[in-house]
Amino acid sequence: ASGYSLMRDPRHNKGLAFAEKERDAHYLRGLLPPIVVTQDLQEKKLMHSLRQYEVPLQKYVAMMDLQERNERLFYKLLVDNVEELLPVVYTPTVGEACQKYGSIFRRPQGLYISLKEKGKVLEVLKNWPQKRIQVIVVTDGERILGLGDLGCQGMGIPVGKLALYTALGGLRPSSCLPVTIDVGTNNEKLLKDEFYIGLRQKRATGQEYADLLHEFMRAAKQNYGEKVLIQFEDFANHNAFELLARYGTTHLVFNDDIQGTAAVVLAGIVAALKLVVGTLAEQTFLFLGAGEAGTGIAELIALEMSKQAKTPVEETRKKIWLVDSKGLIVSSRKESLQHFKKPWAHEHEPVKDLLGAIKVIKPTVLIGSSGVGKTFTKEVVEAMASFNEKPIILALSNPTSQSECTAEEAYTWSKGRAIFASGSPFDPVEYNGKVFIPGQSNNAYIFPGFGLGLVMSGAIRVHDEMLLAASEALARQVTKEQFDKGLIYPPFSSIRKISAQIAANVAAKAYELGVATQLPRPENLVKYAESCMYSPLYRTYR
Ligand code: NAP
Ligand code: MN
Repeated sequence: ASGYSLMRDPRHNKGLAFAEKERDAHYLRGLLPPIVVTQDLQEKKLMHSLRQYEVPLQKYVAMMDLQERNERLFYKLLVDNVEELLPVVYTPTVGEACQKYGSIFRRPQGLYISLKEKGKVLEVLKNWPQKRIQVIVVTDGERILGLGDLGCQGMGIPVGKLALYTALGGLRPSSCLPVTIDVGTNNEKLLKDEFYIGLRQKRATGQEYADLLHEFMRAAKQNYGEKVLIQFEDFANHNAFELLARYGTTHLVFNDDIQGTAAVVLAGIVAALKLVVGTLAEQTFLFLGAGEAGTGIAELIALEMSKQAKTPVEETRKKIWLVDSKGLIVSSRKESLQHFKKPWAHEHEPVKDLLGAIKVIKPTVLIGSSGVGKTFTKEVVEAMASFNEKPIILALSNPTSQSECTAEEAYTWSKGRAIFASGSPFDPVEYNGKVFIPGQSNNAYIFPGFGLGLVMSGAIRVHDEMLLAASEALARQVTKEQFDKGLIYPPFSSIRKISAQIAANVAAKAYELGVATQLPRPENLVKYAESCMYSPLYRTYR
């Protein structure tokens, strides 16, 4: 290839880091200024310029430009500066980016499959330049973070998630495919927005919706084989549970909002048990929000309790209560409940609101998963602190604007006693002379390692046992020092190590269950996971 096209290809471009010999061998002489620099210096310069931006969205756009220009450098920045850059390419900034995606749109970063492509989905897949895809993240944009229906502009989510698959889990960027299925949007604001990039129509539902999804699922398997992992992301719950159930027996599918979140939260709670009294089965849980995240977490906790306490899951579920927009979920409401809520309809009088439910249920763990911000009020946190020495409070809703409460509120209102973590990050808080470091309870801890475990073992199906394996691997990464600071998750800065542990545990389970096809089984799965990971360091071109 000519030097010019080498420079224009983000997968190969090294900018000023092209060495003298490479410049000679690849017709790059004169196309670059004379200086040759190291990747480290490029990184230093870019981090410096990123830090000049005060507006988070500007940092996001700069990062996306870098990804388009020099992929390895983009990943080097992400890998080396995870804690600083995660909030830029992921929650909360990615939320704002999706809301304004039409205006900041420069180049398509993934595959768009709209109703116009009906009947041609396989052809569309073949248009994508990369042929060997291992992971697809797909959304239909209907429930983007806690921001609702963003239609086609939801593309920011699969793009961001896959960047993390590479940076945190080590999957090769060329094997990752972001997909947005556009069946329209019910977001009036977007429908009127002149810069909106999606189909200008109301969402297709029913058969029309199911047909397009089915065509996509068939085409993906036909084109990429049985081992391609398809991660459903940010679908509304009226489709999410059904899609997972429908394709769970024929495809390698994983819903991050239901399953990934569950594994992360369970890990945090298991870790937190070192800080509070009682076993998992002795805790009482109350959720605000009974959708994908809430019921997914609840089910995995019930499963783990049932394994630990050797009690049927029907029994352990009774320790878990959920509140939805109509109040506490109780048996008298059973008839009118969506099917995923039914297992949680326990015998109890109706209770209208969260505070009322806290007072009667007296939970030891409170989990926010409603997507509605500011719902853990002073009264709510005080009530939790009134009967718990160390109340566990998780505010999972994203982005930051939708968080149930801030870290500062949780620590202040509980007088420094809460064990707190949140979906989007918060800065450390000083209260009464003590510094509290809030943990981030976010599925980014799990899905990259989980996906790597599936890919490296050649798994063809996902089982709940694998989620438990992932969760266990994460929980055991928290060190004594971290517990002493009140943390229930390890820091993101060591995420690649954590991901290797998760991947190894998941792969081990896949082999044990007989769903792994990558044979023979590597002896040391942790080492193997690490050896599979993509390195963002430049290669030398001869
Ligand atoms: P979902 O399936 O739409 O569920 C939302 C639930 O919240 C529903 O049960 C809904 O009640 C309930 N709800 C809504 N408004 C409420 C209110 N004012 N009072 C009480 N309950 C209310 O959404 P999801 O997928 O579970 O996601 C929810 C949130 O979790 C989002 O903000 C998302 O970003 C976040 N999340 C975080 C992570 C993480 O890793 N931290 C992972 C996944 C999701 P009805 O059923 O009655 O409508
Ligand atoms: Mn999600």
